[in-house]
Amino acid sequence: MSELTDFSKLCVHTITTKPWSVEEAMDRYAAAEIGGITVWRQWLDGRDIEKTGERMRANGLEVVSLCRGGFFPASDQKGIDEAIADNRLAIHEAAALGAPMIVLVCGAVPGQPLTESRKQIADGIAAVLPLAEEHGIKLAIEPLHPMYADDRSAINTMASANAVCDELDHPLVGIAADVYHIWWDPDLEEQIQLTGAKNRLFAFHVCDWKTPTTDFLNDRGLMGEGCIDLKGIRAMVEATGFEGFNEVEVFSERWWARDQDEFLGKIKKAYLDFC
Ligand code: ZN
Repeated sequence: MSELTDFSKLCVHTITTKPWSVEEAMDRYAAAEIGGITVWRQWLDGRDIEKTGERMRANGLEVVSLCRGGFFPASDQKGIDEAIADNRLAIHEAAALGAPMIVLVCGAVPGQPLTESRKQIADGIAAVLPLAEEHGIKLAIEPLHPMYADDRSAINTMASANAVCDELDHPLVGIAADVYHIWWDPDLEEQIQLTGAKNRLFAFHVCDWKTPTTDFLNDRGLMGEGCIDLKGIRAMVEATGFEGFNEVEVFSERWWARDQDEFLGKIKKAYLDFC
């Protein structure tokens, strides 16, 4: 296999190489013959979004998704309306960038019942669906690890993400499966199968869970540094017929402090060795 073939299904999130601007990231990923890029919205600040997407494609990169929309729940109507407006903006940004999908970190409000937040999430997605339809943008609900149920997401398992998908029952609403959030789930295999069978497994994110974890947000491991059965979960995902990217999403103060070119080399090696 050529190197191009080896890394054609590898995608890196711009936040993984946080010290790099979007221009540096796309140039370095392309030079490394990585196939895809997922763009975090803050990387587009002050940029001509359409031109940025064109430059990525001209570099040979596939724009895999835009991160992130969501954060629908709020304690008052003003907050709910603002969230919907921001998600509509994200859809316009994705369309301009040429990203086919937006990842949704769905949100939660500390102290508000999770049942209420889940209802606001389903209502919020329903409210932006017509615009997503107009632009053909997929909305991928990312279940987050339950340690984030207080303020980041009331959707914490594949099953609860599937429940929202069932309720909305729309071909543009699916799931982003991120190993960091779901690796512990005893129902994982069954839920991945179900998600695939319903044609809603939209994305697959990889990293690792370090022991001990020193920070629950910014201490993710590079693949192979932790305890997640990456090959086993990838096999479950691919058994459904999933042909999308392996998206490397590592928030890590430790790796961000290192030389990013060296880190990108380690990402490629870890992808081959551990995914
Ligand atoms: Zn993710």
